Amino acid sequence: MAGSFLQTSRLLLQSCSGTPSFHVCKLHMTSSMAAKEHYKVLVVGGGSGGISMSARMKRKVGAGNVAVIEPSEKHYYQPLWTLVGAGAKSISSSERSTSSVIPSGVKWIRSRVQEFNPDKNCVRTDKGSEISYEYLIVALGLQLHYEKIKGLPEGFKYPKIGSNYSVQTVDKTWNALKNFKEGNAIFTFPNTPVKCAGAPQKIMYLSDAYLRKTGKRAKANIIYNTSLPVLFGIKKYADSLWKIVKSRDLNVNFRHNLIEVRPDKQEAVFEKLDNPGETVVFEYEMLHVTPPMGPPDVLKRSSLADEAGWLDVDKDILQHKKYPNVFGIGDCTNLPTAKTAAAVAAQSAVLDRTISNVMKNKQPDKKYDGYTSCPLVTSYNTVILAEFDYTGQPLETFPIDQSKERMIMYYMKASLMPQIYWHGLLKGFWGGPGPYRKIMHLGLK
Ligand SMILES: Cc1cc2nc3c(=O)[nH]c(=O)nc-3n(C[C@H](O)[C@H](O)[C@H](O)COP(=O)(O)OP(=O)(O)OC[C@H]3O[C@@H](n4cnc5c(N)ncnc54)[C@H](O)[C@@H]3O)c2cc1C
Repeated sequence: MAGSFLQTSRLLLQSCSGTPSFHVCKLHMTSSMAAKEHYKVLVVGGGSGGISMSARMKRKVGAGNVAVIEPSEKHYYQPLWTLVGAGAKSISSSERSTSSVIPSGVKWIRSRVQEFNPDKNCVRTDKGSEISYEYLIVALGLQLHYEKIKGLPEGFKYPKIGSNYSVQTVDKTWNALKNFKEGNAIFTFPNTPVKCAGAPQKIMYLSDAYLRKTGKRAKANIIYNTSLPVLFGIKKYADSLWKIVKSRDLNVNFRHNLIEVRPDKQEAVFEKLDNPGETVVFEYEMLHVTPPMGPPDVLKRSSLADEAGWLDVDKDILQHKKYPNVFGIGDCTNLPTAKTAAAVAAQSAVLDRTISNVMKNKQPDKKYDGYTSCPLVTSYNTVILAEFDYTGQPLETFPIDQSKERMIMYYMKASLMPQIYWHGLLKGFWGGPGPYRKIMHLGLK
């Protein structure tokens, strides 16, 4: 009897890191202290995927049993930043307070996770708290690495340079474009996976349109320097983009990777990836930087990561390959599809079902097909709506050829999608356009 009591006490006092502590990490605790530290569902990251899943989990297990760990006071609808960088939307229209998007009753833990301990079902935050869970949803997004380009991020203090990828630098893109006089306007794509792989070139098409509108286009040489060997990964849409590139006199250089910015001289240095050791220097009047990206450091150093550092999940059901009570969604995962909010939406519906089944000790039965989408903004009123799946085949919602530039798609991107995001995805009601696609294709897709 005494032995068992001592054992229980030891368990109660076992900390996340395995050392004795007064924080309680074990499951199914009953003391009031344990109740504060333990959640049935713990969501890490309060971005698109994290908020959407916490809304869905609230409906499943009740608000009091769900917590979200998110350090930022602000939540952003990042897809709008393409338009913010081109002066078509304000940054404030992409922003809400985090407190307003956390589902009511769900606990918001305003911290940064510093350590995962999936063998003990708990995490440790930068404030030193240890929080345990029965089910963990990892939705950390990805990490931007401006510092991997020599001269950045401090180079952003100079004018003529911007980046739509960060809330701190997106306005600088618009400043550089507004103040363009004459010379090279250069747009880059790094040598890493990125989120929204179309965004690095969308701002090029918008800049071209702006310079035409303001009568400066004749004095501009527009250049897209990309690390990739293709303009876009899906041929159907790449073919359309090539026609635009040619008709608008845009220059594309493949396998050019930005490695240094000399903002005082307005010079950008690129390595030629197919000729190791060879570099080329471009002068610029405007430079849009898409930074190298990678998995969050905290994930990379944990046992949840695959060899490349991304969250190692099953591509069909989004459950962790080694820890069955851990799940993932969004940019931080190793799902072999393009990283977008549209993908997050489709994933959220599948993950909801997977977790439901796991909670009932049933086999997951709904599969994610890799659906993702990229509205390729090609001017201030046109979009090519790319939609595709794991196979790289188009998976289009509408029964029309979506590889054509269309005004209706622009209005969808600029006006309708933000509403679907705030009122559908973040509330856990929007699981992607799958059901509508079926209806529009008379059940054939
Ligand atoms: C310029 C641009 C244009 C885009 N255009 C489109 C588009 O047109 N269509 C589209 O579908 N998608 C687009 N996207 C991509 C889309 O925004 C992302 O794919 C989507 O937001 C991913 O959601 P997520 O939840 O995985 O990550 P995020 O929404 O980035 O959320 C991650 C969250 O984790 C938090 N976090 C980070 N570290 C920690 C930690 N240690 N502890 C706790 N929390 C942490 C962060 O603060 C953040 O809130 C675009 C993105 C950009 C930048």
